Amino acid sequence: MEINYCSACGGKMETRDVDGTPRRACTQCSFVHWGNYSIGVGALVVKEDKVLLVRRAQDPGKGYWTNPGGYIEQLEPIEETIVR
Ligand SMILES: [Zn+2]
Repeated sequence: MEINYCSACGGKMETRDVDGTPRRACTQCSFVHWGNYSIGVGALVVKEDKVLLVRRAQDPGKGYWTNPGGYIEQLEPIEETIVR
């Protein structure tokens, strides 16, 4: 089933490239429909007593520093998500 309207603001959804994957995304706000389920994973990358931090590319918290993470793709093993 294709998502036609944004569940956050009611705006019209379109299909566009989000980080290399076609996704349904709102034309009026930053909402992205990641799928019928959303499982997030995060990783702590430690090297020589330093921790890797990245800046969030998406809302909520776009621009804030955090540990690397994201949503798994359907049927993707969690280990592959962490590497990706
Ligand atoms: Zn919206």
